[in-house]
Amino acid sequence: MVHDTTGALVAVAVDGPSGSGKSSTARGVAAHLGWNYVDTGAMYRALTWWMINEGVDVTDPEAVTARVGEPTLDISVDPLALGVYVNGREVSTEIRDPHVTESVSAVSAVPAVRERLVAIQREIMERSAVVVEGRDIGTVVAPDAAVKIFLVAATEARAVRRAAEWAHDHGISVASTAAMLDQRDHLDSTRELSPLTQADDAVMIDSTALTLDEVIDQVVAMVRDRIPSFATS
Ligand code: C5P
Repeated sequence: MVHDTTGALVAVAVDGPSGSGKSSTARGVAAHLGWNYVDTGAMYRALTWWMINEGVDVTDPEAVTARVGEPTLDISVDPLALGVYVNGREVSTEIRDPHVTESVSAVSAVPAVRERLVAIQREIMERSAVVVEGRDIGTVVAPDAAVKIFLVAATEARAVRRAAEWAHDHGISVASTAAMLDQRDHLDSTRELSPLTQADDAVMIDSTALTLDEVIDQVVAMVRDRIPSFATS
């Protein structure tokens, strides 16, 4: 991991429920600072997509565990050029399909899945300054991150944003989107291993009434404050 002269881990952890703006915020902060960016949700989605494609029963933790090591997984860490690859195939669009979204919480609750993906995430963090977004970054993956954000937004605001992204492709209403987000957050928050929860030392930002730029500015200001030598851009 990369540390500054005071020993602080040069990383920003962005956690929070689905649709709170984590991806746009984390990507924007990374682009602003010239750092790498890791979308850990995309990794859980990629593995879930592969399992479904292989006909694995994703509701059966043993079946998932038996296959978890098989596919190769690669993810671009460039905030301006995203890409997720499974066995060399680019699956950035496929992993956003509703059937992947519906199954991802079951797959991500399996210990062997988390073990494999957390190891990859930590490996990426070894290489450079990084903004990492997910559900357990501040609590489990990088508890020493210099800046930890817990990003929230009202359900209605989250659903409106997601429905706007999805309606175009999948024609899903705001009401069904809200129900799906709540269901996924419930599963992610109540699982036994690494549940979605705010780290004690994370700063909560409510993005409901803020623009994306306002949220990015707040996070960048925290980076400048805590690890100034790495916030040069
Ligand atoms: O962030 P995104 O909505 O793409 O995440 C998809 C799913 O991946 C989450 O609902 C959660 O089940 C899982 N996830 C996780 N831990 C992370 C990131 C995502 O369990 N760090």
